[in-house]
Amino acid sequence: MSNNTQEVLNLYRKSVMGTYTPDVAIASGKGVTVRDADGLILYDFTSGIGIHNVGHCHPKVVSAVQEQAAQLMHCSNLFANEPATKLAAKLVELSGLGGKVFFANSGAEANEAAIKLARKWGNANGGRYEIVTMRQGFHGRTLATVAATAQGWCQEGYDPLPVGFAYADYNDLESVKAAVNERTVAIMLEAVQGEGGVTPATDEFMKGIRALCDEKNLLMICDEVQCGMGRTGNWFAWQNYGVEPDLFTLAKALGGGLPMGALVSNAKFADVFTPSSHASTFGGNPVAAAAALATIGVIEEEGLLDRAKELGTLFREALQAEVDKHDKLLEVRGAGLMLGLVVDGEAKPIVQALRDQGLLALTAGANVVRFLPPLVLKEEDLEEAVDMISDALDCLFDEQA
Ligand SMILES: *Cc1c(COP(=O)(O)O)cnc(C)c1O
Repeated sequence: MSNNTQEVLNLYRKSVMGTYTPDVAIASGKGVTVRDADGLILYDFTSGIGIHNVGHCHPKVVSAVQEQAAQLMHCSNLFANEPATKLAAKLVELSGLGGKVFFANSGAEANEAAIKLARKWGNANGGRYEIVTMRQGFHGRTLATVAATAQGWCQEGYDPLPVGFAYADYNDLESVKAAVNERTVAIMLEAVQGEGGVTPATDEFMKGIRALCDEKNLLMICDEVQCGMGRTGNWFAWQNYGVEPDLFTLAKALGGGLPMGALVSNAKFADVFTPSSHASTFGGNPVAAAAALATIGVIEEEGLLDRAKELGTLFREALQAEVDKHDKLLEVRGAGLMLGLVVDGEAKPIVQALRDQGLLALTAGANVVRFLPPLVLKEEDLEEAVDMISDALDCLFDEQA
């Protein structure tokens, strides 16, 4: 390791609070690769955790940002700005839900807005406020979204947590039914759980949740922060199931690399928020909105929804071949280009071995290696990446044998 990386990491450890423990410093990115602080090029199969769906520094996104930055960098939400307004209309169009949008700056904030909207409506409709969320789900790191995230490691040390959440087992409709009571106003879930282990909802579960929400007059809220924006081969992962949520949230890939979150509603819940009932200073920032519009344009022009499906299938087959070869690998799961390799043991050493081969990947929970490559991935890139994965696994498991 040459000195640039070491210098950055030394300064980092001294100056940045230790919520993350990086051992790579990234200096630049282009398409499906990044360059580290020492000039080493790596395949980025993390996409910055599901951000770079159109790849790093896509020229169309870069020029949209440059143009907008030179024109209007911020606009108070006391005034309207054109990029955010157009983006809202576009998201409503892509959703087909006929509703409206509230803009925030992150996934946690988008979910916080969804929680507030559900409570505002529920309090006015039968004094209901409780939201049922799923174990192994992930919804963010603000206090309310941590309370919504039914995972111990995320909540530990932060008592007292906000009340108003009940937990159920994912893909277990009976468990959800048992968690619903007279206080319940909404059910919130990811169509594909990301942090919790790259686990897709079953068709039966998603349809069952929709039916339950209809029956009990509850909002169905989909957290699309990680699985949305084309990642699974449709604009939104709930579209893979033929059901429609009442609300869904976006962030991560939405801003094409800039911070942006959004809450999208259907028509029924479009006007629950009223003047000054909720707000965000930077929400709908024109530069972030211009980047988002350009990103959506690229996904459309380059046919990236189909690409996610097609390359997702090829990638899944390649990973399945590794599962067939190594006893320590149990299963491939996920959807589109959101794939998880389930390990009998710790996933971390595999992520480390992949990095040594020149490929960045993620864990999801302790036992799953998570791959979120940019959707602009080409077949040649995938072949090269699969060779690296194959070599890393051979190396690792031969050593252990
Ligand atoms: C990352 C993530 C969040 C939190 O987003 P932030 O932008 O980090 O606040 C929420 N929900 C899901 C499903 C996520 O993957």
